This record gives sequence, structure tokens and C-alpha cells, in this order.
Amino acid sequence: MSITIREDERDEYDPSHAVPTNKGRYYCDPACDPDDPNRMKISVTNAIDQHMIEALAPAAARDTAIWLMDNLPAANRAAADPYDMEKFIKEAKSQYRLQWDKKADLGSRVHAIAEAINLGAPYIPDEEAEPFVNSYRQFLADFGLDIRRDIKAAECTVLNRTLGYGGTSDIWANLRFDSPTSPIIPKFKPRAVPADPIPTPSGLWLIDLKTSLTKPASAIYDDYVMQLAALRHAEVALVCPPECRYGETEFHDSSHEFKVPEFVGTAILNLRETTYGFVPLPADRDAFDAFCGLLPLARYMHGLELRGCKPVQPPINNTRKDAA
Ligand SMILES: [Zn+2]
Repeated sequence: MSITIREDERDEYDPSHAVPTNKGRYYCDPACDPDDPNRMKISVTNAIDQHMIEALAPAAARDTAIWLMDNLPAANRAAADPYDMEKFIKEAKSQYRLQWDKKADLGSRVHAIAEAINLGAPYIPDEEAEPFVNSYRQFLADFGLDIRRDIKAAECTVLNRTLGYGGTSDIWANLRFDSPTSPIIPKFKPRAVPADPIPTPSGLWLIDLKTSLTKPASAIYDDYVMQLAALRHAEVALVCPPECRYGETEFHDSSHEFKVPEFVGTAILNLRETTYGFVPLPADRDAFDAFCGLLPLARYMHGLELRGCKPVQPPINNTRKDAA
């Protein structure tokens, strides 16, 4: 497979064992030798990206339009000259990506602080991340979570070596509910479908954190279900010292690995500036099967090499016959 690691794109906020490549994020399995063809495992979200997300194009268009509104005088000036216009359009086209990278960066910082809180470790105060961190603390308080007693893992790498994928699991927490189902918060009750109480068994939950400055605390997307299902069905979790950070093999041993436990439930924890939403999602066998369907597609697409495929010259013999 033509996957090249991009060492220059490594970021301090990258999850453990994650490596940037020319085909997006992969995880480097520290238990595999450097020449093992199965060493690189596609990241859960990279595989899910193979499934076209309908909402992305409108979201990009929206962010481009907002940027244009903010830069109307410059747009008007640029419109007067074809060269300036081309330059302006080029700049406009890159804006949504800059915006999205900025959001992703904030999300990574919130994750890093939440991990520090879960580990009882100190962290550097971050003014922009702080409101989200407060919402996380509010979640811990509302759900009666004691970090030492109830948080079983934070930001841990999980791998499925049989199927060849990897991911990072944000939180495994022991949750205790009053009853096997919980009512929906009244303001979020759906109008189009019956608002059934949602199953909330007590026990170990797999929770993924999502941060957003703009989306409501109830926002969920189709691909979240597949993401949770993939993490839930990973086989092994890695708790490695920093020496195995990028999948280095020589330091790794089986004492860094343990079996992924069974979870009674999976959920998204939406962190917002002044609130949060804990949304249980049915990451079941069907969701996992759908995710598994994306793996061969991703493997094929990431191995596909079409750069040498170009139009060929017509056969000379045929051309002569037509002319005659
Ligand atoms: Zn290790």
C-alpha cells in the first residue's frame, strides 16, 4: 500500500500511536515489526471519511459565505480587476479549512485538559478551552462521578488487529442511573418521533467528547454511531509509556496491553461553552457491520494509484482506414 508517514505533520496533540500520513491518520501498532505489512492501522475516523458526509459541502459553503460578508469591501475592490479577483477567490476558498482547523485545534486542547483532569494531572490554563472544561466538570458533578473511582480509562489507544483499524477512546466511565431508562430533557424532546425514554443501564460506558462553539448540546451526526461502534468493538487497549508514543516497537511489551472490556452503553458527550449534552447512541452490531463495510473501501482507495492513467493515442491503422 502506498502510505507514507508525514513526520513533519506530527502534532503534540495527536493521540498516542497516531501518525499523520499522505492518506490521513493511521495508528502505528507498537507490537508489529517495522517491516510487518499490518503495522499501520487505519484510524476509525479516517475510515468513516470514506462515507461521503452530505453535510460537509453546505457547511463549507456557509463558512465561505460568512467570510465573504466579513470582507465585502475587499470583495468589491477585487471584483474590478480579473487578477485581483482570482487572488481573492483563492483566498476565499481556503477560509473554511482554516476555520475548521481552528475548531479542531480547540477540540484537541479541550480533550487534552479533560484527559489531565481524568488523570488528576496538572494542566496549563487555556482561556478559550476553559468554558468547555467547566462544562465537563459540570457533567462529572451532575452524574456523581468520582474520577479515581469511576473513570476507568482516558484517551486510550484501541486497536482491532483482526480487522486492521485503530482509534482513541476518550473516556470509559462507570455510570450509575436511577433506573434502566432515562427521560429526555424536555427542551430536546423530538416532535417528529415519539420521545421514548432512552435506555441507560448502570455500568461501564464508552463516551466520546465533542466540542463546538456553535452547535446545540443535542447535535449528533450519523457517523458518530459508527465511530462509537468501531471503538466499542476494538480488541485491545494500549496504555503505553511515552517511549511507544509513535508506535516504536523496541520499548513495547505485552504489559502495555489489555483487553477492551464490555460496555453497557455508548454515548456522545457534547461539551458547549455554558452547557453539555450527554446523548446515549445505539452503537450496536448493525452500526459495527456498517463501519466494517467501509474498511475494504478505504483500503482500496488508499492503495489506488491512477496517476499513470492518461488518454492514449488512437491506433494508427484505424486512422488510415478512415481516411481512405
Ligand atoms: Zn507500548
